[in-house]
Amino acid sequence: MRWSGQLISGNTDAAEASASNPTQPGLFAASETVVRTFDTPGFRGATFYEVHAKSVLNKVPGSSPMFGWTINPYRGCGHRCVYCFARQTHTYLDFDAGLDFDTRIVVKVNASEVLRRELARPSWRRESVAMGTNVDCYQRAEGRYRLMPGIIEALAGSGTPFSILTKGTLMLRDLPLLEAAARDVPVQLAMSIGSLDESVWRTVEPGTPSPARRLDAVRTLADSGLGCSVLMAPILPFLTDSPEQLRATVAAIADAGARSVTPIVLHLRTGAREWYYEWLQATYPRLVPRYRALYRDGAYAPSWYQDRITSAVREYAKAYGLVRPKAPAGTGTGSGVGPIEEPNFRKVGNPTARAAETQPALWEEDENEN
Ligand code: SF4
Repeated sequence: MRWSGQLISGNTDAAEASASNPTQPGLFAASETVVRTFDTPGFRGATFYEVHAKSVLNKVPGSSPMFGWTINPYRGCGHRCVYCFARQTHTYLDFDAGLDFDTRIVVKVNASEVLRRELARPSWRRESVAMGTNVDCYQRAEGRYRLMPGIIEALAGSGTPFSILTKGTLMLRDLPLLEAAARDVPVQLAMSIGSLDESVWRTVEPGTPSPARRLDAVRTLADSGLGCSVLMAPILPFLTDSPEQLRATVAAIADAGARSVTPIVLHLRTGAREWYYEWLQATYPRLVPRYRALYRDGAYAPSWYQDRITSAVREYAKAYGLVRPKAPAGTGTGSGVGPIEEPNFRKVGNPTARAAETQPALWEEDENEN
């Protein structure tokens, strides 16, 4: 079990803790983990497993330099996106990929303290660190645990560039810290906004801030000078993929001042696949046969479909001024953030390879997650 070797003794907080034995005694022994529940809106029904990790910097094998290292202060995600590719990683903890992923959240309460130690090692080469690659670091739990401020300070203080991808408008809480960090190291921020459709959003991403609020966050980050890219993901076949929807979404992203837009079509790996089909059957049953046909070859939509979507988004991105020239290698934007990158619309024959190329680490589970 990957986590069992990573845990050291936990603490207790009788005032807040609703301590009980975890349901997975082999993984989280009571002496090692504090289990809490909070009777407040937004946390009702969730259980938090506070653990002390031995390490938080994860090396992603075989990845690009941008995604060579990751930090994931949480496991599981209260944003509860039905399609979430990280669901399967919860099974490594002896939880299930469905409701447990949504409601049993592992919190590495000592993340910043451990990170400072790891960054101080002489062997640390200050390669870029990506956050939000497995689960969302600005999910609801972050509002209570506040792990990110310490992580941001530790990274910036050590001269380590970093990137954050999130659906959480909570990132704005740390705007002053991010601005300060960007004066010392390259900082790249990205918001995930798949579509503007509120009826789809309410059921498929029920724990997330609305698309409108995420767009407001993009605007705030743009106005601050930090800037923010948008990952238009996932685009849901037959639900958010009409030309009108794609155009309206790209227009809104451009209007919010995003640096770039990168479209990614839904993919359905084991773990997410079962959960998504259950949701589809309950919410849009007429679409089930069409999905079965579209995804009959595996986790990815066929290349003709992906080509159609990326071509349309590229056309709209150009129309709304979102395709910008690549900055020369090694240059920043003048505000401390990293180089502006043209949206990645590269064509790759194999759909699996294409998804990996489009967003290398985002679609990979952190196999050496701590
Ligand atoms: S916000 Fe990201 S990590 Fe969280 S459930 Fe949604 S897709 Fe998964």
